[in-house]
Amino acid sequence: MSKNVVIVGSVAYDDVETPLGSRKNLLGGSATYFSVSASRFTHARLVGVVGNDFSEDDRALLARHEIDVSGLVTDTSGDTFRWGGRYHENMNDRTTLYTHLNVFERFTPKIPETYRHEEFLFLGNIDPALQLDVLDQVAGPRFVALDTMNFWIEGPRREFLDKVLTRVDGLIVNDEEAKLLTEGRSTLELGRRLQELGPKTVIVKRGEHGALLFHGEELFYVPAYPIEQVIDPTGAGDTFAGGFMGYVARHGNLELDTMKGAMLCGSVMASFCVEGFGLDKMSAVTIDDIKNRYTRFEALTKCPALTL
Ligand code: AMP
Repeated sequence: MSKNVVIVGSVAYDDVETPLGSRKNLLGGSATYFSVSASRFTHARLVGVVGNDFSEDDRALLARHEIDVSGLVTDTSGDTFRWGGRYHENMNDRTTLYTHLNVFERFTPKIPETYRHEEFLFLGNIDPALQLDVLDQVAGPRFVALDTMNFWIEGPRREFLDKVLTRVDGLIVNDEEAKLLTEGRSTLELGRRLQELGPKTVIVKRGEHGALLFHGEELFYVPAYPIEQVIDPTGAGDTFAGGFMGYVARHGNLELDTMKGAMLCGSVMASFCVEGFGLDKMSAVTIDDIKNRYTRFEALTKCPALTL
């Protein structure tokens, strides 16, 4: 039975420069990318904060995706979180031009009463002490997944991060973050060591080289969907997580086949995300677009039976 998914994270305005052009004031943030992506599969319920500059058009975009924003607080004492980034020629490396936390600096997530019994929860990349606080506000969800970043892994908040890790079921990180969290001489060893930190489901994203799933004893790999041109990689990770969690919540179980389908959906949604600036492309994607890309994805990786 289809379940909702709750996301706690940032809502932002982004200024993005890529070798193919630049855009200002794009609606962004981890919770935004996540919930728009997840909304293709189930209902997303957002917890975040915006300032008094948050536009009606952007509220309307969230409403069009039927995203529940009763957990989105408007703090009128300042502006919405702002982030600026510049991508290098290879589109993988980026330089953060600025991070203006604004009202996000005082963000203390309050999970609305109506969200507390939801079974699927995603803790976006925020201070691990706040992630812990969120876990204390919810009534024993079935599957909680976590995102984090180098700033929390290497910084003074590591002890909080280690505590959160023991209390979540899933971890979604990229290759570099995985290597900062623990050591492993091979990808397999790295995955198993990450599982030992707490979460029994671990996804290691490897950018254009796809993503690996460790689910209990099981292992699954999904390549990145090959596309003609990357326009703007911003939000691809959160979009992957939204597609993944949205699909799992829609199916309402943690079976391996559900996880495999979710890996493909995460990858498909991320491929749409990077084909346009900000949410341009991803927010216009239809269920048929997803089905078509999913089918082509299957064909891409399906091998004939071995004949010897
Ligand atoms: P990604 O490309 O997956 O790293 O996600 C980029 C999104 O994360 C952008 O829309 C930013 O607004 C947001 N972002 C950047 N830095 C931070 C931060 N320190 N905390 C929360 N969100 C951030």
